[in-house]
Amino acid sequence: MDIKVQPADPSRRRPKPTDESKLVFGRMFSDHMFIMDYRSGEGWREARIVPYHALQMDPAAMVLHYGQGIFEGLKAYRWKDGKIRLFRPRKNWERFNRSAARMCMPQVDVDFQFKVVETLLALDHEWVPHSVGSSLYIRPTMIASEPHLGVRPANEYLYYVITGPVAAYYAEGFNPIRIYVSNEFVRAVRGGVGEAKTMANYASSLFAAEMAKKKGFTQVLWLDGIERRFVEEVGTMNIFFRIKDELITPPLTGSILPGVTRDSVIELAGHWGIKVSERPITIDEVIDAIQTGAMMEIFGTGTAAVISPVGEISYLDRFYKVQDGGVGEWSRKLYDEIVGIQYGEKEDPFGWIYPVEI
Ligand SMILES: *Cc1c(COP(=O)(O)O)cnc(C)c1O
Repeated sequence: MDIKVQPADPSRRRPKPTDESKLVFGRMFSDHMFIMDYRSGEGWREARIVPYHALQMDPAAMVLHYGQGIFEGLKAYRWKDGKIRLFRPRKNWERFNRSAARMCMPQVDVDFQFKVVETLLALDHEWVPHSVGSSLYIRPTMIASEPHLGVRPANEYLYYVITGPVAAYYAEGFNPIRIYVSNEFVRAVRGGVGEAKTMANYASSLFAAEMAKKKGFTQVLWLDGIERRFVEEVGTMNIFFRIKDELITPPLTGSILPGVTRDSVIELAGHWGIKVSERPITIDEVIDAIQTGAMMEIFGTGTAAVISPVGEISYLDRFYKVQDGGVGEWSRKLYDEIVGIQYGEKEDPFGWIYPVEI
């Protein structure tokens, strides 16, 4: 499928960031967006890149009522040579299609998604920031656009991609987070939609997240929805525990989002000879390991922060500091290595880097 390109009029271009270190995540968007339409029986059509604009939607559009919508999040990195690279983008495109399948939405060809981003970056490459650690965030999205009230999969969809520059996450160095274990609210259950990057997961997480914030915590540590014993995720990140010299992360059993960063940490740690276990871990085991001193470090993983060290946990009104509340050795090492690969400062033995041809 060809992509029709309608460049923004130079006089209508948006002002670029004046200070890349002050970019707030998700506030500023680049000049163009990709969009295409789907209709059952006809497939995808009218692939086009147009100036960034507000969508016009029927108030009965199904996504607005029944939440049939999915998204992805990945970044474009500018290397010292001025060229732009992506980090494991195929993983995002494939996950997008798995999310789509779970939500009864149409598939988008993986090779076509590469073409979409490359065509978009050909126009908006100047929006990829230059300072180390900053990047252009890419947000592919699919929504049910058919105007229809009544619960069933829609017959019409919009797929679009917007992008926006984001600052380095740790402009002032690592900042360990304090997390609140919610034993009242859950994010997802096995058999539900927790493993899909679908909108409902974020709406349902808000209440507990606000509660945690009111109590002075950064994120919620989610337990499993059935027994409320097994640790699942932290905020919108996957979670890792280092107990002595073993790295542990919960297995992907359906209620956990299969993070690209999670997968990268598992591969990298394994490559370094670290024992990595994808196994269930209870909150009691976590608290016990902290109290005996066996818990060396805890960290979250996700595209936004890469590695987010956890300094303290609150569970059932008690507080538990992880070691001295600082940044663990493996957290720092994994962060440096992954960020080093993303910016071309370290070797990429896994073939994770995708050079953008524009
Ligand atoms: C996106 C996301 C992650 C992290 O995935 P990455 O691919 O590493 O960015 C983890 N948990 C949730 C709930 C997410 O939405």
